[in-house]
Amino acid sequence: MRLLLTYLLLACSLVAAEKSFTGKVVRVLDGDTIVVLVDEKQIKVRFAHIDTPEKAQAFGNQAKKALSAKIFGKQVRIQVDTIDRYGRSIGNVYLDKRWINQEMITEGWAWHYKTYSKDEKLAALEQKAKEANLGLWADAKAVAPWNWRKKKPSKTTTKTQPDKAVTSYWLNTKSNTRHNNSCKWFNKTKKGRLSTAKEGKACGSCGG
Ligand SMILES: [Zn+2]
Repeated sequence: MRLLLTYLLLACSLVAAEKSFTGKVVRVLDGDTIVVLVDEKQIKVRFAHIDTPEKAQAFGNQAKKALSAKIFGKQVRIQVDTIDRYGRSIGNVYLDKRWINQEMITEGWAWHYKTYSKDEKLAALEQKAKEANLGLWADAKAVAPWNWRKKKPSKTTTKTQPDKAVTSYWLNTKSNTRHNNSCKWFNKTKKGRLSTAKEGKACGSCGG
């Protein structure tokens, strides 16, 4: 029994590493990413060769809808190119004999991802879609998603400075020195009281 379980676990973990597999498309995350159900295991697949507009970009939703209309709920075949650092299978998606990656470019829903793909046929199909103003190419100034991702505001958290606004004053009634509330002597002198900004002499270190 234990041996059987071990075998099953091994078989499952190998599914994603296989060169080719088929499964049902259970989710379309965006125009170039889907989740495929294979033996009750969900496998995330990123389309090779293409890059579609991000959801927040113009045509991001249309690209997603276009992809959904093609393959959602359908049985597809994935030919895996590689597994990326996020654990996603990068590959080509086929519906029967249709090469969906190519269709997305042909119909103007995807850029040819030239950094990662040297496929000249796809480059030519992209050019054709562009000239015909198909899909996202209706916008002559469409920003490629890889550039758009770079332009996104960085998430570096700006450290909030402690509020140094002076709101109250402390008068050392023995030395007649006035401290503001940023001072270490504020409310700390043996004799003293809260004061106005004009009483006493200003402290040399906090400015009073
Ligand atoms: Zn002071």
